[in-house]
Amino acid sequence: MKRLSILGSTGSIGKNTLEVISGHADRFRVAALAARNNIGELESQIKAFRPDVVAVLDEPAAEDLKKKGLPVDVLAGEEGIVRAAVLEGVDMVVSAIAGSAGLVPTHAAIQAGKDIALATKETLVMAGDIIMSEASEKGVSIIPVDSEHSAVFQCLDGRDMNEVERLILTASGGAFLRSSVSELESVTPSDALQHPNWDMGRKITIDSATMMNKGLEVIEACWLFNMPFEKIDVLLHPQSIIHSMVEFIDGSVIAQMSVPDMKGPIAYALSYPGRLGDILPPLKLAEIRELTFEEPDHSKYPALSLTYEALRAGGTMPCVLNAANEVAVEAFLEERIPFTGITGVVSDTMAEHRVLKARNIEEVLNVSEWARHKAREIIGRNVA
Ligand code: NDP
Repeated sequence: MKRLSILGSTGSIGKNTLEVISGHADRFRVAALAARNNIGELESQIKAFRPDVVAVLDEPAAEDLKKKGLPVDVLAGEEGIVRAAVLEGVDMVVSAIAGSAGLVPTHAAIQAGKDIALATKETLVMAGDIIMSEASEKGVSIIPVDSEHSAVFQCLDGRDMNEVERLILTASGGAFLRSSVSELESVTPSDALQHPNWDMGRKITIDSATMMNKGLEVIEACWLFNMPFEKIDVLLHPQSIIHSMVEFIDGSVIAQMSVPDMKGPIAYALSYPGRLGDILPPLKLAEIRELTFEEPDHSKYPALSLTYEALRAGGTMPCVLNAANEVAVEAFLEERIPFTGITGVVSDTMAEHRVLKARNIEEVLNVSEWARHKAREIIGRNVA
């Protein structure tokens, strides 16, 4: 029986994880749940999965949950989330808190020797070198949940990395694949939140529309697979059936396919190296008929170029890119900046950053805070 702590249990990944678990109750036990403030959803999850501990970031919401008298230990605040991440007896932590808030609890879980099923890519974007080297010191496995990285992980499956020529991350192209650059200037948050293939949280859905999500995934792949960014390509594949591919030195390419449903990669991360039955419906290629591919247009998706720029700069620049993007996406969702302004804020913030090498998580958090502050200042200047 694998004991799990699910950070971000009320979100899209969290709920899919619980769905996978409920079909395999003989294999998994939920020991801890954590979320920001959605205590309504947490209450149903507590009743269904009977965890020992639940952590709620928002302290008044945690108090309200306590008053319900459910048979669970309710923890509160950032410290409570960290305690859920390091809970004794937990074998694996599902890291699915949206954005940079996932870094501290995921880092704490690694220090406590927990294996990680990693959905929150921002953790590696911000602090990939620290996270990967501490995981290796602690003998902790980091198993990807992101569908592209799960695909690469499955294609590699123990192969010699010296035989790998390049990784090819596929991308759906998000909500605006067929929109022109000029049409992008007037799109609204509700237009951008319509993803054609995946049902995900708001932040990642906007990141898919700008393709910043793919950029963050390139950075994540560099750290997860120890690959130089020059050997990681992005390919548009609107059907989202091939989740990514690995090209080997002999010219062979191995691809991983399935219907687009996050329960697939989540189940693989939970059960690795085995597989669970009854997760996804069969893939009916004869009905799909066409799988198509296109090169992404960097002038339409400047987020991709910004990512490679951040990777070339190295050090703390990817962390700055991530923090500025979070602030800019929030501003777009609140209709304070246009869609096309998101990458402008990121680029201007990066231009003001002097790259450092962060030695620990505290330094990473300081840089992230600096970038958030700078991005807000840039938005304020542009709006005024
Ligand atoms: P959602 O927005 O759907 O869910 C986010 C979860 O995190 C919720 O449980 C939310 O709680 C919780 N949360 C948010 N902020 C905090 C905080 N400061 N402290 C504690 N908990 C917090 O996001 P997704 O599930 O879509 O994405 C989660 C992560 O997984 C992201 O990093 C994303 O990039 C990655 N990912 C997602 C995929 C997807 O298909 N959705 C695919 C691949 C990767 P509450 O509900 O209470 O607000």
